[in-house]
Amino acid sequence: MRKKIGVLIAILIFTGIPLAVKATSENGNPNIKSYGSIIYKDSSGSVELYAEDIAFLQEKLASVPDEIFDPVLYSHVHEWEYINVNKNTHTRHCAVCGSLYDIVSAHEAATSRACTITYGDKDYPGYEKTCRCGYTWKVEMYHNLIYTSVDATYHRLSCGLSGTDYCSGLEAKDSEHVRTASPVDETHHQSVCNFCLIEEIQECVFDYDSFEDSENPTQIIKYCECGNYITEPKESVSENDIGNTEDRSDETSQTEQLESVSGNQTETIQGGKI
Ligand SMILES: [Zn+2]
Ligand SMILES: [Zn+2]
Ligand SMILES: [Zn+2]
Ligand SMILES: [Zn+2]
Ligand SMILES: [Zn+2]
Repeated sequence: MRKKIGVLIAILIFTGIPLAVKATSENGNPNIKSYGSIIYKDSSGSVELYAEDIAFLQEKLASVPDEIFDPVLYSHVHEWEYINVNKNTHTRHCAVCGSLYDIVSAHEAATSRACTITYGDKDYPGYEKTCRCGYTWKVEMYHNLIYTSVDATYHRLSCGLSGTDYCSGLEAKDSEHVRTASPVDETHHQSVCNFCLIEEIQECVFDYDSFEDSENPTQIIKYCECGNYITEPKESVSENDIGNTEDRSDETSQTEQLESVSGNQTETIQGGKI
């Protein structure tokens, strides 16, 4: 307790002297000295002392451990070592200070360098970080976005390292497959998602597009999205159209028009195949 009173006096002296000088010079009365908020001059000019402030200061000092006043703390260069290093924290320790002054804190990257993270037979670009305590850990350089199939309709976009300590966390998003079909035989195609690469053999559906057969106007060619097609006789409505066309075919100009239309259709069919 003596030490604490000593500190209290020291605080008063250090903070009080400049204020006392200031008060003396301002008031021109060398008999009244102000020592900050603890000792002060009231309106009548008499010097007062706040008992509450003294109590408050004593209370504050009481929360400071006695050891803090031990001169040994201020008479050596700390020899920091890091002990109790675990996945999340280290403890900074100085043997001279003693374990009372140990500080537990989270690792902080003192250095960082590019590295490769190998996880599940795959390599990912990352950073290897090292704390002052020597603990090293790796984090991904950026999220490694991958699509995985959820079901026949949806795939999920997520980070290839999500759920591991390498990844800071990424909310997964579901969206529908974007499929491309290619024929496997005349009536089936393989449908593959451009993103998650899910594959499925499907029966062709010939409703993707249809054109009149340029070589046989009574026939219609119906295409599946994969490029497979079937040729069918035109339906009755189409046959009526053909009849009308034939009626007008006497006029040369119209025949030419028809041929030019057929030519365009052929081109379009080729385009459709691509
Ligand atoms: Zn120390
Ligand atoms: Zn550390
Ligand atoms: Zn990630
Ligand atoms: Zn997909
Ligand atoms: Zn198909």
